[in-house]
Amino acid sequence: MTRSIQEPAREIPVVHETDVLVVGSGPGGLPAALAAARAGVEVTLLERYGCFGGNITQVGVEGFAWYRHPTTIDSEGIGREMEERARVMGAAQPEPQSVSHALDAEGFKYVADLMVEEAGIRPMLHRMFVAPIVEGGEIKGVIVESKAGREAILAKRVIDATGDADVAFRAGAPTWKLPKAEMMSVSVMFSMSGVNKTRFIEQVKADPQTYADWGGNGEWDITTDGKEDALFSPFLRKPFKKALEAGLLPPNLATIAGTWGGVTDQGDLTYLNLVHLNYDGTDPDELTAGEMEGRKQAMLAIEALKRFMPGCEEAKLRNFGMTLGVRDTRKIDALYNITEADVRGQGRFEDSIGIFPEFIDGYGILILPTTGRYFHVPYRSLVPKGVRNLLVAGRSIGGDKISHAAVRNMMCCTVAGQGAGVAAAVSLKSGRAPHEVDIAAVQAELKRQGARLH
Ligand SMILES: Cc1cc2nc3c(=O)[nH]c(=O)nc-3n(C[C@H](O)[C@H](O)[C@H](O)COP(=O)(O)OP(=O)(O)OC[C@H]3O[C@@H](n4cnc5c(N)ncnc54)[C@H](O)[C@@H]3O)c2cc1C
Repeated sequence: MTRSIQEPAREIPVVHETDVLVVGSGPGGLPAALAAARAGVEVTLLERYGCFGGNITQVGVEGFAWYRHPTTIDSEGIGREMEERARVMGAAQPEPQSVSHALDAEGFKYVADLMVEEAGIRPMLHRMFVAPIVEGGEIKGVIVESKAGREAILAKRVIDATGDADVAFRAGAPTWKLPKAEMMSVSVMFSMSGVNKTRFIEQVKADPQTYADWGGNGEWDITTDGKEDALFSPFLRKPFKKALEAGLLPPNLATIAGTWGGVTDQGDLTYLNLVHLNYDGTDPDELTAGEMEGRKQAMLAIEALKRFMPGCEEAKLRNFGMTLGVRDTRKIDALYNITEADVRGQGRFEDSIGIFPEFIDGYGILILPTTGRYFHVPYRSLVPKGVRNLLVAGRSIGGDKISHAAVRNMMCCTVAGQGAGVAAAVSLKSGRAPHEVDIAAVQAELKRQGARLH
């Protein structure tokens, strides 16, 4: 049995009270906070790190809408606004395989600051959610830890946008995760500087890679609909194959392969998605191992690129993501759990809070929305069972394994986020609990805010 100690009970100062508290500021949380504020309530955005943006800014996930083709019917609303705002502010560049913009992970930190400030949201960075305050099955706020110690924040509505459903889980709502061996991998993301863009792009054009080239091993072994196979993909495996043959990479690292996100005129090669590891992102010991093993592999990948990828000869590491990138952990058991049939079969729901194209990416499946097909995201998938006054936004909304490979995508997280933010505000203003909110009023406010519902 693990040894334990008893922590004495103590008084916790209430440092802040708010209407809507959003915990976590990624593609789920940032839109949730913006939407609730724009719907006319007081909003507080709580974040454990020093910048807003979640995986975008903290991990360096820049491919915000890399699935978008000319025929794609895409989500509308705050997600699109984030992409456009970044473009206008010079914090995004054209994405090489789609009609979209890749965000600049660093620049987006400032874009997010401005969006938060302009919406009048109360920012609270550098505070980690550690425990919910629950009375009679209803969440009333949270306890945070920071350099200031332990503090309480009270809220009339709480939105869990931690990615890992930390708030729902600790509040006692039922959650589930896949067995570790089946989880999507975790990745140390990194960028390089000093790349000769002209030579790099010449090589890409001389030997264009396609989605068919992803097949072969591990993470990148995919099943498509067939229509994806001949499309260009910014995929890198050949340099790593050569590095294996040359003995630069050990045989067990045949897993190193993946995509690059963009190459700038200044020689930055960014969003290098090359390292894939099997760790559980809810276990700090596993996170520790993943960070260190991932950095080791990233350094080897850089050596391989320097030797075997034209344009990278003089390049070096620019930065690692601030933290390990985690794709797949807890999901809530919601009033409705989105199914594989919904995301593959254009699911339609009366309580739709937004749409997302038929884009499925994960667990060995890649379906690109080249056809105009899309599904509705139902409001009920944001409402956890077991705890009242709580909504969930982002990748941990209710669903099955395959639907997760659709809803985890950042644009879909923004749809859930905007829906949760508006629903929290509307439920508060109408004095009805989130699970009993008037969905027509939520939909009307979402429409007013520019979301596409059907
Ligand atoms: C390596 C990698 C590559 C990916 N590539 C793509 C891609 O190309 N395109 C795409 O669309 N998606 C991609 N994804 C998926 C996508 O990034 C995520 O699914 C998405 O960011 C989830 O959004 P979220 O808001 O739910 O969670 P997150 O982005 O993880 O945001 C959660 C936020 O909550 C904060 N937080 C967590 N716990 C606490 C706490 N206890 N207290 C306070 N704050 C807390 C975190 O610091 C973070 O800011 C990728 C993911 C990874 C890891």
